[in-house]
Amino acid sequence: MHIDTGDQALRARALRVVPGGMYGHMRTATLPAGYPQFFERGEGCHIWDADGRRYLDFMCAWGPIVLGHRHPAVEEAVQRQMAKGDLLNGPTERMVELAERLVRLVAHADWALFAKNGTDATTTCVTLARVKTGRRKIVVAKGAYHGAVPWCSPSVLGVTAEDRAHLSTYIYNDIASLEKAVARAGDDLAGIVVSAFRHDYGFDQELPDPAFAKCARALADASGAALILDDVRAGFRLTLAGSWDLVDVQPDLSAWSKAIANGHALAAVTGNDEFRDAASQLFVTGSFWCGSVPMAAALATLDELERIDGPAQMHAMGTRLREGLAAQAAAAGIGIRQSGPPQMPTLMFEDDPDCAKGFLFCQEALKRGVYLHPRHNMFLSAAHTAADIDEALAVTREAFGVLDRS
Ligand code: PMP
Repeated sequence: MHIDTGDQALRARALRVVPGGMYGHMRTATLPAGYPQFFERGEGCHIWDADGRRYLDFMCAWGPIVLGHRHPAVEEAVQRQMAKGDLLNGPTERMVELAERLVRLVAHADWALFAKNGTDATTTCVTLARVKTGRRKIVVAKGAYHGAVPWCSPSVLGVTAEDRAHLSTYIYNDIASLEKAVARAGDDLAGIVVSAFRHDYGFDQELPDPAFAKCARALADASGAALILDDVRAGFRLTLAGSWDLVDVQPDLSAWSKAIANGHALAAVTGNDEFRDAASQLFVTGSFWCGSVPMAAALATLDELERIDGPAQMHAMGTRLREGLAAQAAAAGIGIRQSGPPQMPTLMFEDDPDCAKGFLFCQEALKRGVYLHPRHNMFLSAAHTAADIDEALAVTREAFGVLDRS
């Protein structure tokens, strides 16, 4: 019997056995019509959907793919470790090597522990702040994403008031609002959570104002609370030292995941010596957290990012893309806003409250084999070459043309 495996057929099959046909941030329901839900494979900076159509990929699996899909050095390290075993009754030497590597690379890190998802890491940081301080209150930026469990999910479905009883919010980059939130927490403040930069879904991105970053550090110091950096999305793309190293501010704890192992499932928490005892006491674990294969992948990923200066390379390619888009939009007389670091660009259109222009632009690019996102920051990888960027720009020129005529 022939089973149809194209995108439409998979959607129909999934609807019967997968909630909503797909759940969470990878549902295509929030994307323009025509975006595929199912994929078949990836190679370098290309992906193929379930119908075999190839796209130049500017989402990189929403961040994890930092060197390109199936990077040979990473996959070789994976095979080598796989031959010895992944899950054993405890970690292997890979864990110690990787912790040593993070302590060397990450400016604030004196130790590292490992988990699977970004949410594991952010939740562990928040818990650690409470263990260390013996206090309860956590302040987070309004609208910032830190994961999909009750304390931080953007959805309130299934969330009780108690889950968020000790959470209060401030506005990213707004010193007065951060001071107010910290004052409200009073002597019960356990931690201040900051994102690497403001990368909220559907908004222009904002890099951290150095004065805001310094203020967050000073407020944490003055109250004895933890400064927690959620570097899950930006980590290892902007710099290997931790994203706030770029503004010369070091957190106490950082949460990492996404790019750390070029697509293999791994998360990490790094911390400074002040938090070492608390981290030794805390019971955190998971059945798959000690898997050595993703750790071997992470070591190979970090080797390669260091060797080629991945962040600088992605910065150069992201800048090439940004400058090309700016010139095309100007030539077409179309108002656009580009924001965020070049390695993680966001493109929005002026006078586009319902994102109709963004949707049309991305649909036209998709039809021509370039996978963009109309509302979320996109991701460059070190596999994107100047020729790939120029190929993408040849397509976006046509997409701007369609927009101009519409
Ligand atoms: N923090 C940030 C900034 C993220 O972007 C994400 C994932 N998009 C998370 C935390 C949660 O990571 P995960 O989906 O791996 O649990």
